[in-house]
Amino acid sequence: MKSSESNTSKYSFEIGPIRPPNEGGESSLLIRPTRNCSWNRCAFCPYYDGKKFRIRDVEDIKKDIDAVERIKEMLKENSDAIGKVPFDCRSVVSGWMQSGEKTAFLQDSNSLIMPTEELIDLLEYLVETFPSLERITSYARSDAVLKKEMEELEKIRSAGLKRLHIGLESGDDNVLKSINKGVTSEEHIRAGKKAMKAGFEVSEYVMPGLGGDKFSREHALNTAKVLNQIDPDYIRVRPLSVYPNTELYQKIERDDFQLNSILDRLREVKIIVENLEVSSNLCFDHSWNSWRDRDGNLLFDMDYEGYRLPEKKDHILQRVKEGLEINE
Ligand code: SF4
Repeated sequence: MKSSESNTSKYSFEIGPIRPPNEGGESSLLIRPTRNCSWNRCAFCPYYDGKKFRIRDVEDIKKDIDAVERIKEMLKENSDAIGKVPFDCRSVVSGWMQSGEKTAFLQDSNSLIMPTEELIDLLEYLVETFPSLERITSYARSDAVLKKEMEELEKIRSAGLKRLHIGLESGDDNVLKSINKGVTSEEHIRAGKKAMKAGFEVSEYVMPGLGGDKFSREHALNTAKVLNQIDPDYIRVRPLSVYPNTELYQKIERDDFQLNSILDRLREVKIIVENLEVSSNLCFDHSWNSWRDRDGNLLFDMDYEGYRLPEKKDHILQRVKEGLEINE
């Protein structure tokens, strides 16, 4: 999605570059309390290359919320002035209205890094302005979760932030170190458990292929172990995709990282699922999960709610088996 950075006015609001697929599919309202990434060092990540992180002023974010309300009224009244609204802002608001105005996503990559009082102030303003909102979600880094006191997390949750999307990527410390995640497996576990205890729905992202050839098996096994400790609401599978503007790309060029095949990544999914002991929804809700079955159909549903574990474990493993057989 195109970014409208620094382009706010009476008729526009800022929109960052990414949001989770389900927030797009459910046409969530996009509000941008922070710009870019507070960490910006993960070796595989192409999104905020060279862009400076900033926590925006709460009054500016509130002006964005006011602009959304204004655009909403203009769309309802079919006002001629709607022509003054940038296309991306208009399409976010109209999609959100058509979906019942139920969900909102806070961009960019780590809203939880905001001072607690400011985040609560903005959440309360958002909920007060749009009482129809049933779910507000955000990306969060594990280290940002750990930096908040439990009481702060509970207050943020009570103010309306319901779900945290956390990039676990791997449960293996060698892999986490090699990709500069800036968080250890033990910190991921503590953060995930803490967020769950504070009442958030937790969505953890895992990345088959991130260990390359070298750490493939350990990556899968230790990822399952960490997920078992957290037992999150959602586990979302995002196989590695390499972008040219990343450190990982340069490592591959220098022969410092050996990519494994998409079949090896499916074997990693097999190891993860075999070793999971969780009550979570396992989701393949991204086009990078492109494995096919013998009829040429996608191996896994891309449904945002995914497969319920443990109930669907045998079914998923059966699909993995089919995917491995036809490709081998
Ligand atoms: S924390 Fe997220 S957004 Fe930031 S560099 Fe890492 S993967 Fe990218």
